[in-house]
Amino acid sequence: MKLVLLGPSGAGKGTQAKFLSKAYDIPHISTGDILRGHIARSTEIGLQIEHIMDTGKLVPDEIVIELVRERVIEPDCAKGFILDGFPRNLYQAKELCTMDFEIDKVICIRLDDEVIIKRMSGRFTCPECNSVYHTDYYPTKEKGICDACGSALIQREDDKEATVVNRLKIYHDMTEPIIAFFSGVHLLSEIDGLGTAEEISAQIMNLF
Ligand code: AMP
Repeated sequence: MKLVLLGPSGAGKGTQAKFLSKAYDIPHISTGDILRGHIARSTEIGLQIEHIMDTGKLVPDEIVIELVRERVIEPDCAKGFILDGFPRNLYQAKELCTMDFEIDKVICIRLDDEVIIKRMSGRFTCPECNSVYHTDYYPTKEKGICDACGSALIQREDDKEATVVNRLKIYHDMTEPIIAFFSGVHLLSEIDGLGTAEEISAQIMNLF
């Protein structure tokens, strides 16, 4: 089964992709994770894209499309895969349709901007042990200090409100037109992203 998960960053695509990956035993392909891997390994691509990703802008199409083309022909993708974060614009969506396979379903998780901004911009991360907290949903015992290891928490560049707002604008301008494109070819199902991860998984399972 070949699936595409659409929706803004912060709507819970990653969580649902992991759930589907387990349920159907197919790999979760997150272009964001692949790109962050390049940055962590300081590859040629990583050095080229680091500053782009820090601001939440889109990485050039040719880089992402090539990475996806290479990934989906790996042996673990023979039974299918879940694309999370790709396609991100109409050009990428059209390129996806020229690849050597058919997409079975596109699932779009919808969530209002205000909820996403609240979810994302309240997140703080420990630079030492990577624990993640939230000022409203998962606060630390002592403000700004990691419960697990006592280090001072930081806000990741891409969780800062200005970056989140910028990413949402890019989503509305560049990515949302894909929804109409896929609904035109009858592949699209829309899901309400408000609710617990379990409630959203249940809505998704009802689609199959
Ligand atoms: P994500 O983890 O999906 O939120 O992606 C993090 C960042 O990676 C995005 O803000 C973009 O800079 C970059 N990125 C991920 N997927 C794509 C894509 N399909 N096209 C262009 N840039 C991407």
